[in-house]
Amino acid sequence: MSLAITATGTEVGKTVVSALLLARYGGSAPLAYWKPVATGARDGRDTVEVERLAGCWGEVLPESYLFPEPVSPHLAARLAGSAISPGEILAACKRLRRTGRTLVIEGVGGLLVPLDDAGTLVADLLAAARLPALVVAHAGLGTINHTLLTLEAMRTRGIEPVAVVLNGPPNPENRRAVERCGRVPVLELSPLSPLDRATLERAAADFDPGALLARWLAPGSAPRAVPSGSRISPRPPEADPSPPPTWLDADRRHVWHPYTQMATAPAPLPIERAAGVHLHLAGGRRVLDAISSWWVNIHGHSHPRLNRALAAQAERMAQVIFAGCTHEPAARLAEALASRAPGELPHVFFSDDGSTAVEVALKIAYQHWRNLGEPGRTLFVAFDDAYHGDTFGAMAAGGAAVFHEQFRGLFCEVLRAATPASAGRPGASPPLAEVLAREGGRVAAVILEPMLQGAGGMRVQSPAFLREVRELTARHGIPLIADEVLTGFGRTGRLFACEHGPIAPDLLCLSKALTAGYLPLAATLASPAIYRSFLSTDRARTLFHGHSYTANALACAVALESLALFEEEGCLARIAALERLFAGRLAELARHPRVAATRHLGGMAALEIRAAPASGSEPEAAGYFAAVGPHLAAESLARGVLLRPLGNVLYALPPYVISDAEANQVFDVIAEVLDTL
Ligand code: PMP
Repeated sequence: MSLAITATGTEVGKTVVSALLLARYGGSAPLAYWKPVATGARDGRDTVEVERLAGCWGEVLPESYLFPEPVSPHLAARLAGSAISPGEILAACKRLRRTGRTLVIEGVGGLLVPLDDAGTLVADLLAAARLPALVVAHAGLGTINHTLLTLEAMRTRGIEPVAVVLNGPPNPENRRAVERCGRVPVLELSPLSPLDRATLERAAADFDPGALLARWLAPGSAPRAVPSGSRISPRPPEADPSPPPTWLDADRRHVWHPYTQMATAPAPLPIERAAGVHLHLAGGRRVLDAISSWWVNIHGHSHPRLNRALAAQAERMAQVIFAGCTHEPAARLAEALASRAPGELPHVFFSDDGSTAVEVALKIAYQHWRNLGEPGRTLFVAFDDAYHGDTFGAMAAGGAAVFHEQFRGLFCEVLRAATPASAGRPGASPPLAEVLAREGGRVAAVILEPMLQGAGGMRVQSPAFLREVRELTARHGIPLIADEVLTGFGRTGRLFACEHGPIAPDLLCLSKALTAGYLPLAATLASPAIYRSFLSTDRARTLFHGHSYTANALACAVALESLALFEEEGCLARIAALERLFAGRLAELARHPRVAATRHLGGMAALEIRAAPASGSEPEAAGYFAAVGPHLAAESLARGVLLRPLGNVLYALPPYVISDAEANQVFDVIAEVLDTL
């Protein structure tokens, strides 16, 4: 563990407190002091001062950036004809932590101080480095305000405040106010005079009497041995907070995981934290999340802007009943979705996840006809290989028997039509034209995953098929439900897959990337004609559907920020570049003898694996239960990439923030694991 030292301003006492920590916790623990960026070196260096005061208790490392002018670091660097690279500081910090040193890292200025001309703040660096921080505040007038503002800025960014040090004459009122309003422990430090090693050592004996900071500065060991005559009473440090194996044991005993055969599945990966495209496992391993954590994550894990939007909304309101109440995040999100949706879909019904978005669409379509006085339209049409979710309506619409066969006896009636991929295959359904010609008068709606069928095997369709489905449904006056739970928000290279046609559906289902992988939220968008059929003085025509967490304010706030990021960061251009990279890498892999087919669209790349040549023993199971799936998953994981094949279909669907190098790493791993077959 390591600790950052920040302050409510400059000249508040960060350097003295850093030296004090070395005196208090150094000696037995391998403590090192590091001030990566120092300004004002013309008037003296903090690093030299710490060496003078406390060099005997810890290692004092040299600065990475040292500038003469006593001004903000971004300006000090510019005046020196240089620039600070926060990325380099972060990398150096990681390297130092890997050496096993416990670092006391002194910040520069306060928390919201720019390091570069791009506006990266000291706080951004602490957040990215996942460093908890000690806040030093000057114990005078204005302390409470400055300290609480600093604590709030830290919490908004996910930086853990471990304690506040009030540096100055004791002031019990200030102390109580900071403790109570800042929800943080406070340590007091009286002015040191003279400022020399002996005074520091005496002050260290009184400082942090509860050994509160031992958890970060002396993990696994007692604080420094007490010098004879000193008043430091050694106390056992608090337990190291790193995830104990006991929680994995609790998982094993109590958690029933989704889509998991609990009798035979390998132990789940214990994820401690996630950042960008990486999942960090307990024990220190890092795994590249090449499937966006079940297709939800688009901007990477733990994105600072999404974190901030979430924290800011949490400060205002998390959740309120959405029947008879409303709030700004939901209203603004509904407006944003309606203005970007394909065609005219101005009415937004919120629910919780992809399945409920579909369930709502099916219920709306069904009731729509009853509202219009045509209760005989009770059938739905869905496609071969479709997947729409795991609630009953959604399961009934699903066309991949493996997932839902057990529940077939409970399904409503669904007619099935062929896709270009299934047509001609043994057991394929008839074309949609034929189904509608026969049964069109009884159909309430047709539901389609436009352009890309996901769970059914990452099957890509053509814009022509999309247009054909729209033309046929329009001709028969049947509403078309576009299930864009997977394809929405850029996955196919357009914001919505319907744009490939382009077509305008009557109902649109969104979820997954809607909140960029932060919180469960879904939306079903409806056309004016459908919405109008529910308007009546007859309350029986109400859409009787709603969930406790409908339009959760936290989720809506994150969804809005995610949409802003999507547009500001040019995600569509990035997806187009990824698509080119994927196409090139797939072309190489297509030559592999075990690759039967490759498919790609937007940010998705898939390979269909051929069954092994018959070896005289048992034939290999095909489809979802193909043994090749778990084998490929295990081999990729062993190489640091998380993939979750759909049976014999191996695919990558990474967050858009994946770099070219990381994307190439995924394909290098795929190439290697294919060779293990
Ligand atoms: N529709 C589609 C097209 C999907 O891919 C999924 C999930 N894979 C769902 C609906 C169901 O979404 P959820 O898992 O969030 O219920």
